Amino acid sequence: MNANHILPNYINGQWCTSSATEYLDVINPATVEVLAKVPLSPASEVNQAAEAAAEAFVNWRRTPPTERVQYLFKLKNLLEENLEDLARTITLECGKTLAESTGEMRRAIENVEVACGIGMMMQGTILEDVAKGIDEMMIRQPLGVAAAIAPFNFPGMIPFWFMPYALACGNTYIIKPSEKVPLTMQKVFQLLEKTGLPKGVINLVNGAKEAVDAILDHPKIRAISFVGSTPVAKYIYSQAAANGKRVQCQGGAKNPLIVLPDADFEMTTRIAADSAFGCAGQRCLAASVAVTVGEARRTFTEAIAETAQKRVVGNGLDQGVEMGPVITTESKTRIEDLIQKGADEGATVLVDGRQPDISGYEKGHFIRPTILQNVDPAGEIARTEIFGPVLSLIHLDTIDQAIALVNSGQYGNMACLFTNSGAAARKFRYEAEAGNIGINIGVAAPMAFFPFSGWKESFFGDLHGQSNHAVEFFTQTKVVVERWPKDWSRQF
Ligand code: NAD
Repeated sequence: MNANHILPNYINGQWCTSSATEYLDVINPATVEVLAKVPLSPASEVNQAAEAAAEAFVNWRRTPPTERVQYLFKLKNLLEENLEDLARTITLECGKTLAESTGEMRRAIENVEVACGIGMMMQGTILEDVAKGIDEMMIRQPLGVAAAIAPFNFPGMIPFWFMPYALACGNTYIIKPSEKVPLTMQKVFQLLEKTGLPKGVINLVNGAKEAVDAILDHPKIRAISFVGSTPVAKYIYSQAAANGKRVQCQGGAKNPLIVLPDADFEMTTRIAADSAFGCAGQRCLAASVAVTVGEARRTFTEAIAETAQKRVVGNGLDQGVEMGPVITTESKTRIEDLIQKGADEGATVLVDGRQPDISGYEKGHFIRPTILQNVDPAGEIARTEIFGPVLSLIHLDTIDQAIALVNSGQYGNMACLFTNSGAAARKFRYEAEAGNIGINIGVAAPMAFFPFSGWKESFFGDLHGQSNHAVEFFTQTKVVVERWPKDWSRQF
């Protein structure tokens, strides 16, 4: 890696130099060192990838599932063997701590493991004698070429919510990583190449809007999985649907935690701080608002403020660092402006992370954990996705008011409750309008054998990533009704 290294694409089993005329610097957010240059690939390169993937599909779908998963077993082993290098690459380009990057890759590997069970997951059904001598069956077949468009905050994990399932089901695939963090997929594709997958089965195209629009327009790309911000999710969802494609789009979030007076405060504070400040708050399952109910206010406020101030901020590669930088200087400015907006709306900046002063990394995109108190529930700061290490505190009198606040938001990615009451937990699980629910959990990230849900403006589509949802997304059902002559047995 160096500032002049131009990242190649991987198309039809070959590493190829892009014919792009525009490039972006890939920047280490802790040091602002330029790590490489990413090409903004033109539409023609997406088209080449789509054509190669369409050609490869002919044989790949005929390859038995048991053989297809052998490549995934190899990939799993290669990912394990290279875990340290992959985690380091994520930290270099994305800023999170090495422990967070390692955890991210473990989640990626988990999806490969689940997809290896495709022989069970892809089975259809058959019912004999739906009428006398007539059998009816439903079989699952792959779609063809599918593509993923990924965000910056989990450069290693998010493509794995989709890609292993797509391949296991017999589809061929294209990945377009975020142009801000394209290095991790370079490493993953070096490993994919080592598995010996047939050429064209898996392709990598770097780029930004032009590449995305080419994916949306290419007639041979049958399905698109997108993860990113809500405005772009809406755009992708409508364009892909207008072009007749199957589409699933995961969007932004504004996740609330509710703290009841009977919660275990030591545990709740620790978990809430990890949720709000882990990955520098750049997680679609990060807590952004903590709602204290009744007596919870005083104890929780003091404890979370103390915990936030103690968090060790720095370069994610350094030992002992608990929180890294945010991704870009634009993100840092946007987050700082939102903190000011909160103050202008009447909130108290209880812990102010805007003057980070990180020794040795003065140019890095750092913000320390920040807590806003007495946030107006109707104000912008309580409702806008901040995507940074900022927790807003709101106080309400009852759990009903808290649930009403949760349900009034535009997003529905995650909502969490902290309590010792089973009845309160059940009420919350039942009534909260979010796709991922945590009870005494701060980041309710589903394991790979559950779908990664999301409601309202956090998700557009029907089937989510991971697990059986991914298998359904990457297959189409065919129903066959069969009749044979009444005396068929006499023919033998
Ligand atoms: P983003 O929407 O800016 O970019 C995501 C992808 O879309 C990138 O690959 C980018 O190249 C492409 N893109 C951006 N603008 C485009 C445009 N105008 N037309 C076509 N393509 C475009 O998102 P981001 O900043 O990389 O990621 C952060 C966002 O992702 C946050 O909102 C976060 O909540 C969300 N996110 C959601 C989930 C989830 O599971 N719901 C998971 C991770 C991240």
